[in-house]
Amino acid sequence: MESLGKQKSGNTMAAMNNKSVYFFAAGETEGNAKMKDILGGKGANLAEMTAIGVPVPPGFTISTEICAAYNQNNQKLPVPVAAAVEEALARVEKKIGKKFGDKENPLLVSVRSGARASMPGMMDTILNLGLNDDTVEGLAKKSGNPRFAWDSYRRFVQMYSDVVMGMNSSLLEVALEDMKDEKGYKLDTEMTADDLKALTKKFKTQVLESTGQKFPSDPKEQLWGAIGAVFRSWNTPRAIAYRGLHAIPEAWGTAVNVQSMVFGNMGDDSATGVAFSRNPSTGENMFYGEWLVNAQGEDVVAGIRTPNNITAAEAKLAKMPGTSLEEKMPNLFKELVEIYHKLEKHYKDMQDMEFTIEQGKLWMLQTRNGKRTARAALRIACDMIDEGMIDEKTALSRIEAKSLDQLLHPTLDPKAKKTLLAKALPASPGGACGQIVFTSEEAVELKEKGIKTILTRVETSPEDILGMVAAQGILTSRGGMTSHAAVVARGMGKCCVAGAGDVQIDYVKKEMRVAGYVLRQGEIITLDGSTGEVYLGEVKTVEPELDAVFERVMKLADKYRTLKVRANADTPKDATMARSFGAEGIGLCRTEHMFFGADRITAMREMIVAESKAEREDALEKLLPMQRHDFIELFKTMKGYPVTIRLLDPPLHEFVPHTDSETKELAGKIGVDYDKLRMRVKGLHEFNPMLGHRGCRLAITYPEIYIMQTRAIAEAAAELIKGGMTLTPEIMIPLVSIDVELERLRDLADKEVKAVQKETGVSFKYTIGTMIELPRACVTADEIAAQADFFSFGTNDLTQTTLGLSRDDASRFLGTYVSEGIYKTDPFVTIDQDGVGKLVKTAVDLGRRAKKDLKVGICGEHGGDPESIVFFHGVGLDYVSCSPYRVPIARLAAAQAALAQPTVGGGTH
Ligand code: PEP
Ligand code: MG
Repeated sequence: MESLGKQKSGNTMAAMNNKSVYFFAAGETEGNAKMKDILGGKGANLAEMTAIGVPVPPGFTISTEICAAYNQNNQKLPVPVAAAVEEALARVEKKIGKKFGDKENPLLVSVRSGARASMPGMMDTILNLGLNDDTVEGLAKKSGNPRFAWDSYRRFVQMYSDVVMGMNSSLLEVALEDMKDEKGYKLDTEMTADDLKALTKKFKTQVLESTGQKFPSDPKEQLWGAIGAVFRSWNTPRAIAYRGLHAIPEAWGTAVNVQSMVFGNMGDDSATGVAFSRNPSTGENMFYGEWLVNAQGEDVVAGIRTPNNITAAEAKLAKMPGTSLEEKMPNLFKELVEIYHKLEKHYKDMQDMEFTIEQGKLWMLQTRNGKRTARAALRIACDMIDEGMIDEKTALSRIEAKSLDQLLHPTLDPKAKKTLLAKALPASPGGACGQIVFTSEEAVELKEKGIKTILTRVETSPEDILGMVAAQGILTSRGGMTSHAAVVARGMGKCCVAGAGDVQIDYVKKEMRVAGYVLRQGEIITLDGSTGEVYLGEVKTVEPELDAVFERVMKLADKYRTLKVRANADTPKDATMARSFGAEGIGLCRTEHMFFGADRITAMREMIVAESKAEREDALEKLLPMQRHDFIELFKTMKGYPVTIRLLDPPLHEFVPHTDSETKELAGKIGVDYDKLRMRVKGLHEFNPMLGHRGCRLAITYPEIYIMQTRAIAEAAAELIKGGMTLTPEIMIPLVSIDVELERLRDLADKEVKAVQKETGVSFKYTIGTMIELPRACVTADEIAAQADFFSFGTNDLTQTTLGLSRDDASRFLGTYVSEGIYKTDPFVTIDQDGVGKLVKTAVDLGRRAKKDLKVGICGEHGGDPESIVFFHGVGLDYVSCSPYRVPIARLAAAQAALAQPTVGGGTH
């Protein structure tokens, strides 16, 4: 392997002229928390902590800009960087009083990645760097602990050969296990200094045999190798997959943090741990964390040993009294508590920290704003308002709108009969049920077939990321609340039970043994991520209960948002759900969905296959009372809130009989000759039904359909208004491309409403508007507005027709478009602002120019997507309408949009 330091041939990177290395040590810190773009999150916070007087081992950060330069320039480091690194290293030596590569008093460093956004476990880290056959002796003498020195050395060889030299790490694991067997040891800790010395020698021989390269003994060469490996790890498949999932731009790059080592494995007065300033699962304002005595940080995070709780209270709860840091090292615990208070106050947010105790001295190695579940996010936000730490606006901006999804989905029914298999750590909440799979590949494969799985692993690693996405839930038999599985699952909002030590997993036999059961791959289990329980078979789930904290946040969101939020609901049941989530009306009632039920579909099909106006009117007569009844119920449920009813828009292929036997059945039911019906069905076939005889086109050819529906709406309204209700029905005409369509159909609807008003003697206000879901409608929106009382953007069809992407078929290739970065996101999920969004904006502007008080909303799927909601707020819509479950998400996203762009937005209607 060529080291970076040797590559001095001239290059002309832009970064050459910039400052590339930032030093941090008490009193000499060059960075701060605001410099995340160039120092990465970890580097910026190390600098900030140092600056505010928290004990941090000295070190330096190589900027993210150098990562981009390195990877773009054939993995060569800009020349001035080498000199800057040398200079910073000399400053660290001076500060700490040790020398890199010195035989007597060696400085050892860690080399860690750290991007602008947290990417836990995705990139590489190397510890104990600087050890060789000479410096190890110095470390042994200085520490008075040769076993520790040799253990550090063998760990370094293992880590470096894996991360930098690309060696298969399991080869060295085997050598370690062989030696233990030979000596009759059970635990690593039984190995003596001499054993570890012999093992390190063996490791180095194996590295040479396996890679053809000598393990580097020059600490500088080691350093350059490690820096290059960290930069390259930005482009490993797992890092790329993680970036794709979290929309992290490739151009950001990672910084490299080189920091003097402190050791948590120097004996029983040393320790390492991770801690949260509040509980990341519940949000409770209680110090929370895990620690291990005589261990290095990676041991906690990697889940190799199951750690103990930090506080005495948690240890007691876990039935492990006396094992906490609070009880074992009370003075250091006190110091840690003071530091966490200081950090939380400084950052004004919940902190996730890493610390090490080296021979009785506490060092902080990292702090960052902690990832948290949605429930915890709500509670922390509210508590911090009450504590006077943050204001309401800041609190609202802290909660990720999408994450509310976690609270709005079912959890396990507490009353359901269950067979408990195991109880472990409640690592990430919610209920999940699925077939047991033991590899990520299987989880991904089964997901493609629509099969739900529980990814069951001894522990997860970053390679499992795609499997974790594919599975319903994750179960691990090892590791704590801060293990990879726990942290990543929480970030994804995915149910996870971790550290189930009673579960024995056999990857070879593809089975797990627990509580006397042997469960094979494919058998079903259920996880409760909120309690840490694992159950046999499928357990019933129940709808979520929204608590007072949730309601408080929703009220706060309502205080600041200007966009109204409605729901897409077709039945009283959906409407009830929508109201309970705070919907301020129905933005879209798809009337064709009212006919999906078995008892309705026949009448609907009869109408569709009718060959003459008379036949159709017969069928419509059967449909009229059903429609009227449905509208009455819907209006009643909505208690005067606006209800937009869209007239029929059935893509015909969804409604005509699909098979011969269905056709036969329908023929029998409606009393039509089978062959005749078969021919009619054939005649209705369309090659491109999404662009076919649907929407308003149906009523242009068969006006009687919309006449019947308008009558049903008007009769329902008249009946309720007569009974004392106040309501203003909103009638919506879909798929309009030209003003003439709307003009004709509006006229038709107007006449019918007026006729009903006359017949019933009840007059009432009503409005007639249109969906805007075709590009032509957008660019002629001024003409269309002349005929409309309101617009509602159907961004599903507008996306389909603007991008020429079939709503039914595009999923086959959309995944590739997104993974290859051609589209940043799926345009059916998040609005394509530059294309579809431009059309929306054009239509809003043209429409309002023609009619100043035109009411404008959106009812496509994008109405529940937070990123799209920011856009809709920005173009001045009055409301968004989305599925009932997404109403709370939309309320919060609308508030966040208003806080970010207070000068625009709708809300005038
Ligand atoms: C739309 O096209 O965005 C819309 C809401 O209508 P539908 O999905 O029913 O076509
Ligand atoms: Mg549509």
